[in-house]
Amino acid sequence: MKSLWRAQEEKLEAGPADPALKKVHWDVIVIGAGMAGILIAYQLKEQGRRVLVLEADTIASGQTERTTAKITSQHGCKYSSLIKKVGKEKARLYAQANEAAIKEYERLIKKYKIDCQFERVTAYLYSRKEEEKLRNEIRAAKEVGIDAFFTKETQLPFPVVGAAGFRHQAQFSPLIFLQYIAAQLEVLEHTKVIGIKDHKVMTNASVFSADKIVVAAHYPFLNIPGFYFLRQHQERSYVLALSGCERIQGMYYGIDEDGLSFRQAGEHLLLGGSGHRTGIHHGKCAYENLWQEARKYYPECREAYRWSAQDCMPHDGIPFIGRYSYFTPDLYVATGFQKWGMTSSMVAAMILRDEICEREHPYKKVFSPQRMNVRASIGNLLCDVGMSIEGLIKGIVPQGPGRCAHLGCGLTWNPDENSWDCPCHGSRYDENGRLLDNPSKRNLKNMKVDKKEEL
Ligand SMILES: Cc1cc2nc3c(=O)[nH]c(=O)nc-3n(C[C@H](O)[C@H](O)[C@H](O)COP(=O)(O)OP(=O)(O)OC[C@H]3O[C@@H](n4cnc5c(N)ncnc54)[C@H](O)[C@@H]3O)c2cc1C
Repeated sequence: MKSLWRAQEEKLEAGPADPALKKVHWDVIVIGAGMAGILIAYQLKEQGRRVLVLEADTIASGQTERTTAKITSQHGCKYSSLIKKVGKEKARLYAQANEAAIKEYERLIKKYKIDCQFERVTAYLYSRKEEEKLRNEIRAAKEVGIDAFFTKETQLPFPVVGAAGFRHQAQFSPLIFLQYIAAQLEVLEHTKVIGIKDHKVMTNASVFSADKIVVAAHYPFLNIPGFYFLRQHQERSYVLALSGCERIQGMYYGIDEDGLSFRQAGEHLLLGGSGHRTGIHHGKCAYENLWQEARKYYPECREAYRWSAQDCMPHDGIPFIGRYSYFTPDLYVATGFQKWGMTSSMVAAMILRDEICEREHPYKKVFSPQRMNVRASIGNLLCDVGMSIEGLIKGIVPQGPGRCAHLGCGLTWNPDENSWDCPCHGSRYDENGRLLDNPSKRNLKNMKVDKKEEL
């Protein structure tokens, strides 16, 4: 379903492909033209590198067109969790990196005078029951240098026990922004990468070559090396754009189990929630639940748009930005944005710019894919391994549902979106087996799935 952003910016596409692009040996090829790929390519181009972006579909047609586009270093109760898991120093660098990303957006938007409704606002975490958790997060945020405060005053349509505010965060209209930035780049759309070997990139059209290659395809599609399929899973969330609601100032994110996300986008109020692991459904209820909440708090509201998206959730709660693996010195990756891919994409762009230009970067170590945060990862790792074993068994049983073309896990029917979803790694297919979301790279061949059985 079309998002509000796509409705605002229908024409976001690259110009006609220049056939000469294929003949060139590039300094850098970036795979994927979502927020991450475009920003990485732009930062490298600003440094004088010759960069080509290869995109399987069209610019921003992946998760980026279905974001809620809050640009913030407030990523849930991140800092109390990070301090506990990886220590205060790494948590401080994580905070600084994300704050720097907000400033970098502002710099670009000012530089090109982009009219993308960028505005600095306060971001709030709120709870209806857990004041202490909010106060802990404020303490942790202050420890890592964030301008955080506690308040009981919010513009939410229901009472809360409190909210943790971070000042000077931002929101914008992402596709209008991307249109300006992408217009300065060489982007080849409808060019799907099917393999990478040394400095060669094989696509459905032809073979390209570059000194350095960056995989910014949301979920890295090369299983080995890297093993990202063992290090993260995907989670979906749903969004309604409502008209006829009272306007709210600030961006809100609920930390309770059934917490909702709110932000104003022009005339529309964006209401998000109903999150779940991709492939694990509880009947046809994700949009319905959101709509009921909307009607409860804004009886006069109307639904203007609805959409959903998913993101990669790394085990230790930190994105993977840097070298793809120990064994691939010229291959890089940016993934694991945990539904905070606006700042994370910019952090990736700044780190990879410096890494590829052989400069030191202060935040590089925290995000390095080669890090070993064993204690922080072990719980989620075991849970994911369990899910994968269960998924694989379901894929093997002959009467079971269809198998994912990625690693053979059993698919489940998603009644909210009429799709077949993989609970192991989050690949998705439409009812006819056409690929919707990676890491799988291909359509389902022989769909032997009985939807009624699943329902
Ligand atoms: C409901 C929801 C709300 C969100 N709201 C926010 C928010 O408010 N703030 C925030 O910071 N983050 C938010 N996020 C997260 C954010 O939207 C994502 O992290 C971000 O958009 C991911 O960008 P990306 O470039 O990594 O991926 P994508 O936008 O998916 O881009 C990847 C691109 O790679 C292409 N591709 C894939 N495979 C290949 C291939 N083999 N060859 C060539 N191209 C390929 C795809 O077609 C796609 O265009 C939200 C996420 C969800 C689920």
